[in-house]
Formats: sequence, C-alpha cells, structure tokens
Amino acid sequence: MSLGITWVTDWIRQSARVISEHRVELITLDREIGDGDHGENLDRGFTAVLGKLDDLPPDSVPGDALKLVATTLISTVGGASGPLLGTAYLKAAGAVGKEPELNGAAIVALLTAARDGVVLRGKAEVGDKTMIDAWTPAVDAAAAALADGKNEVEILQAAADAAEKGAESTEPIVARKGRASYLGERAIGHRDPGSQSSALLIRAAADTAAA
Ligand code: ADP
Ligand code: MG
Ligand code: MG
Repeated sequence: MSLGITWVTDWIRQSARVISEHRVELITLDREIGDGDHGENLDRGFTAVLGKLDDLPPDSVPGDALKLVATTLISTVGGASGPLLGTAYLKAAGAVGKEPELNGAAIVALLTAARDGVVLRGKAEVGDKTMIDAWTPAVDAAAAALADGKNEVEILQAAADAAEKGAESTEPIVARKGRASYLGERAIGHRDPGSQSSALLIRAAADTAAA
C-alpha cells in the first residue's frame, strides 16, 4: 500500500474542511493568548488553496500539490502561521520530490521536513508553546511507527495521536515564542492555537489515508 496524488489532494480538501469547521474554536484560542485571528488566517488560506486545487495538471505528483499549498499559504495568510506552515509544506514538497507514490519512509520524510521547515523559520523548540509542540511529537511517533514496521496509515495515525497529545501539552506552560510570549504566566491554562491547528492538519492526513 502507498499514498499518491489522490491521498494528498484528499488530505488538502479535508484540511480545508476541518479548518473551516474549527474556525471559531481556533479564533477563540487565539483570542485568549494572541490576537484572535488564527482561525480566520488559516480558513482564508485553505479556502484559497481549494480554489487552485482543480487547476493542478492531471499528471501531478504529491510534491506538486504540497507546493501549491505552500505558495498559496505564504501569499494569502497574514500572520505568523502563513510563512511557518507555508515553509512546512514547501520543505515537505522538497522531501518527496517527484515520487508518485509515498511509502512509510516517504511519509516520515514528509513530516520531518515539514517540522524542520517550521523550525527553520520560527526557531522554536518543544516546550515553547507553539505548533512545534504538535509537530515534533508527531514526527517522533511516525519515525517510531516506521521502525516498528507499521504501514502508512498506522504511521499517520501514530503521528496524529501524538500531535493531539502535544497540543494538549501546551496548556500548562508559558510561551517563549510568538505573541503569547508577551503574556508570561497569563498564558498558562490556555492551549496554543497553532498547535491545535497543526494537530487538526495531521489528523486530516491520517483520516484520509485510512478512508
Ligand atoms: P499571528 O500570531 O501573527 O496572529 P496566527 O495567529 O495565525 O499568527 O498564528 C499563531 C500561531 O503561530 C501560534 O499559536 C503558534 O503556534 C505559531 N507560532 C508563532 N510563532 C512561532 C514560532 N516562532 N515558531 C513556531 N510557531 C510559532
Ligand atoms: Mg493570531
Ligand atoms: Mg495576527
């Protein structure tokens, strides 16, 4: 079993759907420790992506679709999350290259490159209360699942489970990056919105692979 262009475009469509469904929740989280626009930013970005997805040539490979997401998020999403996630998708596209079908190792490479892209841009570490707190556990869990001989779907499910736990782990801590870092102790008790949206995106990857 492997995952090709149909999975990637399904993943992107499902991402747009869940971001839109969770728009208000993400706005509320960002209102508590940021400026309240995170749901709006990502919904705008993924809606723009949806508008361009049908223009992808029929012979496109997964990397082409990931690159389309990257350039669209970078050009349409204001705020920190646009360039951060845009770089994630751009590096993910680079990692899978022209490969038409992604096996487990390629899925791990995709997730790792995405995470590395966010770090390259934002310089956050685990525990800084950012989207990295979702991405890094997801990458680690995916790599462990691959080493255990799990298939693509199981690898993505392990990543999604870890990302959700990672998002939850941002609640009791102070922020050292992004707007929430200005709040000091007042950020304690609130989940980082970017970790929550990243967990949603990774869950969407797993759900569409399993479908
Ligand atoms: P803005 O803060 O500019 O309004 P968004 O609200 O769209 O942008 O995104 C905020 C999210 O971006 C935060 O919840 C956090 O997860 C993420 N973020 C901010 N700065 C960084 C960083 N340096 N590294 C990783 N993620 C970051
Ligand atoms: Mg914001
Ligand atoms: Mg903003």
